[in-house]
Order: sequence, then structure tokens, then C-alpha cells
Amino acid sequence: MKSYDVCECGAPLRLMDRPTPKPAGTEVLLKVIAAGVCHSDLHIWEGFYDIGGGKKLKLADRGVKLPLTMGHENVGEVVAAGPGATGVKVGDRRLVHPWLGCGECAVCRRGDEQLCRTSGAIGVFRAGGYADHLLVPHPRYLFDIGGIPPERAAPLACSGITTYGALKKVGPLLQEEPVVIIGAGGLGLMCLSLHRAMGGKGAIVVDVDPVKRDAARKAGAQAVIDAAAPDAARQIIDATKGGAWAVIDLVGATQTVQLALDSLIKGGKVVIVGLFGGDITVPTPSFPLRTIAIQGSYVGSLTEMAELLDLVRRRGVPDLPVGTRPLAAVNEALNELKAGKVVGRLVLMPG
Ligand SMILES: [Zn+2]
Ligand SMILES: [Zn+2]
Repeated sequence: MKSYDVCECGAPLRLMDRPTPKPAGTEVLLKVIAAGVCHSDLHIWEGFYDIGGGKKLKLADRGVKLPLTMGHENVGEVVAAGPGATGVKVGDRRLVHPWLGCGECAVCRRGDEQLCRTSGAIGVFRAGGYADHLLVPHPRYLFDIGGIPPERAAPLACSGITTYGALKKVGPLLQEEPVVIIGAGGLGLMCLSLHRAMGGKGAIVVDVDPVKRDAARKAGAQAVIDAAAPDAARQIIDATKGGAWAVIDLVGATQTVQLALDSLIKGGKVVIVGLFGGDITVPTPSFPLRTIAIQGSYVGSLTEMAELLDLVRRRGVPDLPVGTRPLAAVNEALNELKAGKVVGRLVLMPG
């Protein structure tokens, strides 16, 4: 099998050739049809997260080993399965839930494998889909995509589940009050689309880039606001008629989290999703006095993946601009994303 691997942090991915794995036990081997290029791949590729104050959280310290085949938004066709892999057959087209845990601890047994202390995420801690084949340890990670085109289904594995998981944390007010979404890149447009599918009241989208704000407006945002405007918080407060009940920060930078906090109404909540990095200082009395909350959200559970696919079946696939590229163009695709030139999602098609 062929794959494009990170062999050295930040250096171009290298074409590797190794024996195609034979599935044993419950394992399933897929031929990769579509693999989305996600913004978090840039962090994995560079090898660290910025945690503010000039400090870095190294992925090597979290157990990420090189060489690594990245790619965690995958759709594939089953080509072989181990004797213990029930419920799948050769030829099935499946979306791969990549957020694997150990499968045995109490957290995993509750279905929250994404929160397991020993993550085995596909494309992060084990080989992902920037390859022609992908080995998945158990059929429970495979989801039927029905008639959804593979390149449109692939982004559901990260972009989709991540924004769905964040939107669920808003709770029942989602249908009653507008939600503020910071960041109108691929995640932002996905979030906007799922928000509408979930019956959301209206979305206000905040971004520094006029092209992305325009894309958000066309995608149905009720208002768009320039994050760099000196009165951005005031504009959000006005647009939400007194302050935001919920801000979903898909960027997660010092400035965006600060903007989110400054825009909240009493009782409001910031859900941080993005991993841009930075740090903030918040006066502790503001938590009780304003009754605000800051909550993190990381991808989603197997149950949420099933719910998301059910939602997509009922309400249609998120209308996200998708550009396809051959697998061999993976380095160009990563650089395009790094340069901020991608509106929507790029998906690699090994063909
Ligand atoms: Zn991702
Ligand atoms: Zn576990």
C-alpha cells in the first residue's frame, strides 16, 4: 500500500510503500475513497499546539509517533474483514469514526471514546487516510453513508462531528436564541449548516476575512461581523439584542476567546472548539457575578456520530464547498490550507 507520511515535523509528507495489512480479529480493511484535509492536520504536521506565553504543547509528548500517516476524515470501501468483524461485507461504503479510545475503560464503555485517556485516534495516534488503504480496528467505527457522495460525507468525521458536538452543548436555547459562531472557514460553514438543520434560531458569524464573511452570509448567516473591528463585541451585543447566550469559538485564539467573553449576556456560555492557541486572563469574580461558563468541546462520541448521520439523512448533507484533489497533491493541499486560501473543505481522492 501507498501512503503519504509525516516523517519530520513541518517537512513535506513523503510517499511510503509498505505491505498492505491483512485484517485480523475484528479489524476491517478499507480502500480509501475520500480523505478530508483538516485544519488540525496542520498542528499535527507542525508537531505542536501553541499554549500561549511562547510555550508549546508538543504532540510527541502526547504520544504521537513519526512517521505518521495523517488523515482522520475518511470514507472507504470495505475490501477485507477479520473473522470477528461482524456486520460488514466487502463492497460496503463506510464513513470512519476516527476518535478511538481503548474501548475498555468506563469512559469508553459509556460511548465517549473521544475522551478516553489513551486515545487511539485514526490519523493522529494510528495510521490515517492519506493513503490508498486504511485499517480500522472494529466495525463499530464504521457508519453507512447511504447515497451521500464520499467527498461530501468525509468531512462529517471531524468537521461535522466537531461542530455537531459543540452545537449540542448550547442546549435547548439553540432553538430560541441566536448563536454566535467565531470563524467562517470549513468548520464555520459546517457549523452554520448543521445549526440550521438542528432548527437553530439564527446564527451570527464573526471572522476577520471579508471573503469568509461573504461565504457565511451566502450560507445563511443572519449577520456577519468583522472580528478585527474595534467595536466587534458591541456589534455582537447589538446583533444579539443584549449579549450572546452562546458563542462557539472555532478559532480558539487569545483574541477570539476574549471577544467571546466580552460579548456574553449574564448566564451565557463560550464553547471553545478551535486549537489556534494562546491564553487568557479572566477575573474570577466574573464567573459568579455574570454566571458565565467557558466549556471546551472536542470532536464527538459514537452516539453523536450516529445522531449526526441521522440528521444528515433527514435534512440533507451540509452545503459546504468541497474541492477535490488527487492524493499525490497532499502537500499542495496542506499548504493551501496553511495559507488560509481554502473556502470550505479540500478532500483527497486516492482514486
Ligand atoms: Zn479534524
Ligand atoms: Zn478508554
